[in-house]
Amino acid sequence: MKKRDIASLTIDELTILMEEFNERSFRGSQIFQWIHQKNIESIDEMTNLSKALREKIKCNFELNKLKIEEKYISNIDKTTKYLFALKDNNIIESVLMHYSYGNTACISSQVGCRMGCAFCASTLEGLIRNLTAGEMLDQIYQIQKDTKEKVSNIVIMGSGEPLDNLDNILLFIELINHPKGQNIGQRHITLSTCGLVDKMYDLASKKLQITLAVSLHAPNDAIRRKMMPIAKKYAMDEVLKACHHYIEMTNRRITFEYALIDRVNDKKEHARELGEKLKGMLCHVNLIPMNPVKESIFKESTSNSVKDFLDILQSYGIQTTVRRKLGSDIDAACGQLRRRYLEKK
Ligand code: SAH
Repeated sequence: MKKRDIASLTIDELTILMEEFNERSFRGSQIFQWIHQKNIESIDEMTNLSKALREKIKCNFELNKLKIEEKYISNIDKTTKYLFALKDNNIIESVLMHYSYGNTACISSQVGCRMGCAFCASTLEGLIRNLTAGEMLDQIYQIQKDTKEKVSNIVIMGSGEPLDNLDNILLFIELINHPKGQNIGQRHITLSTCGLVDKMYDLASKKLQITLAVSLHAPNDAIRRKMMPIAKKYAMDEVLKACHHYIEMTNRRITFEYALIDRVNDKKEHARELGEKLKGMLCHVNLIPMNPVKESIFKESTSNSVKDFLDILQSYGIQTTVRRKLGSDIDAACGQLRRRYLEKK
């Protein structure tokens, strides 16, 4: 029998489980705290439970912890990239970034990705599998343990498409948000999607207070379709309509990500076209100087193009920033670190 991942159970599920085991129900809450607050590495560390109960739990459940396989620390700004090995030996990557307002962890939501964006290294070998909520949580727990620093913000912007794994993501948010766990507020969590419109409506219906980031990367469908296969399924108008709906349901500002690629999507006319579409919307545009991927023909925009693009969007009254490059000495674009590791093996 395959053992279940105990770190992916809610407090209510653990409480019911304890009742089924003929134990006092508060044991459920104790187990939750061991896993999500004290971040123990094995069920045996739950020392306020009897040995018999621990054995009974171990017969049915396992605590799947990630192992740090490799780690790179930037000499410039201490940004740290982790390659974690999962129990089935798959490899994922996560990043810790230091900002004035706190530590941000960028986590992966899947092993690989099936979205096929032309500039992204995470998707080159397709999707291997979804991560469980427990595996997403443990990226944060392991980073905290390794650095002895608290993570205060989470961006779900590592490898994978989170809305392609929505049920586990919702569970992850519930668990990381829990006062008896890490108690990280929803407003400190950003979820980035390439624009799975149906799932954006599903997410909006949950009325969470997380920030939704949408990878737009183009001012129109013709250009977007050259970069992102998903744009053939959902037109940009539909994506923007879903964004308006998300804002209406949650009153939260949307972030648009726009990776600037030399002469593909970074011309002044592109900035104006985008400005016309986004003006007046409760949004923020994050311009990302594209991170060159060796397998891709796309090149990074010049700094002049970035500046012009920024000025034009701002002239439409759109809040726009250029994403600061962190850890440029250890840098590897989305999924590149994992890819290099796999090539080496
Ligand atoms: N699948 C989600 C989240 C993961 S990617 C999404 O598409 O949003 C996180 C962000 O990094 C996305 O905006 C993605 O388009 C961007 N990205 C991927 N590869 C990149 C590269 N080489 N340079 C710059 N941004 C990149």
